[in-house]
Amino acid sequence: MEFGFHFPTKIRFGRGAVQNNGAALRLGERAFIVTGKHSGRASGALADVIAALTHEKIECSVFEGIGNNPDVEQCRVVGAQARAFHADFIIGIGGGSPLDAAKAVAVFAANDIPAEQLFTNSYESGVLPIVAVPTTSGTGSEATSWSVMTWHTVKTKRSFGSLQTYPCLALLDPTYTDSLPLAITRSTAMDAFTHCFESVISVKASPLTDALSFHALERFGKLMPQLELGDVASLRDELMLISLLGGVAISHTGTTLMHSIAYPLTYFHGTPHGLANAFVLPVYLKELAAYRPERLAAALGALGMSQAELAAYVQRNCPIDFTPDRTMFPLWAEQTAAQGGARNTGTPVDASHFEELYAEIFQ
Ligand code: NAP
Ligand code: FE
Repeated sequence: MEFGFHFPTKIRFGRGAVQNNGAALRLGERAFIVTGKHSGRASGALADVIAALTHEKIECSVFEGIGNNPDVEQCRVVGAQARAFHADFIIGIGGGSPLDAAKAVAVFAANDIPAEQLFTNSYESGVLPIVAVPTTSGTGSEATSWSVMTWHTVKTKRSFGSLQTYPCLALLDPTYTDSLPLAITRSTAMDAFTHCFESVISVKASPLTDALSFHALERFGKLMPQLELGDVASLRDELMLISLLGGVAISHTGTTLMHSIAYPLTYFHGTPHGLANAFVLPVYLKELAAYRPERLAAALGALGMSQAELAAYVQRNCPIDFTPDRTMFPLWAEQTAAQGGARNTGTPVDASHFEELYAEIFQ
């Protein structure tokens, strides 16, 4: 047996996490805040962070306009703004989109480089320290080095991430998710769930990541009926914890084929990330039944569901509202084959096989 585990993010979890840990924000004299168009304000997180910075006498500048599925070129422009502000560190507030954007901004603030160089994970002038304050319970981005960018040059989403892009501090307060509409609560919860599930499946799984992901799947299995009923007010803490556990797990295992195959649904049709993952799940499960039956059985066992029950759950709860252009499937299949996640799964990785999977997903 051989594995490693290195997790550099300081985590503070609980209601009042920002108010109670203001001193942890002493990472410099000037903070540049990156948040979404509404999420920073709607959640209350932006006001709490600004109050904490003011209390610590840290100057700040706020960029409040990161789009969903953030665009690498926008992050480059915002990075230049952070550089002009002479930021010492970057604070991301929001769902996965602003948190992922904050990581890119932290790179571009320190390095005036072309967009494509972001994906090399090699930056001459390092990366500014990153603080993450999540307002959704889904991506676990506060606990991963990964950042997923929309990159129009390659017409899909592409990730980057290395030890340098882990947040140094993550402040998780479930209160910030109270303002989330039910549909986003559900789709982000499905993202958190798929991270835990895929972490079990990943060929990079280790006893330590298993400890996190199996435990998280057990917890998620217990709340699935209540999530389906839409009775989510009392699930906020639990969902944020599961999202965090999934984040720490995938920070080591990476995601797998489910994420890779779902990206075109988001890029070409705007399907929310978690919903896209859930929609492709039944076909992914069939793939695992054929090639990874033992790990599939273990993940389903932790969840407390059969393959058929899980497939039926997502089919009931995660519909999509478009009909794809089938002539796009060869391109989608090529893109999927180029994603690292496809190779993490232990299933076939050739594009012609993925074309068949797309045909099955949309039959
Ligand atoms: P998101 O795109 O960050 O946010 C979805 C929507 O929810 C936005 O309209 C956002 O508003 C709104 N919102 C966020 N928090 C809110 C709150 N507390 N109250 C009310 N509205 C709120 O969604 P996400 O699912 O968290 O993140 C998705 C992104 O993360 C995708 O790009 C995905 O590829 C990426 N991802 C990253 C990782 C990773 O490891 N880094 C893993 C999985 C996925 P605003 O428009 O105002 O922000
Ligand atoms: Fe995800």
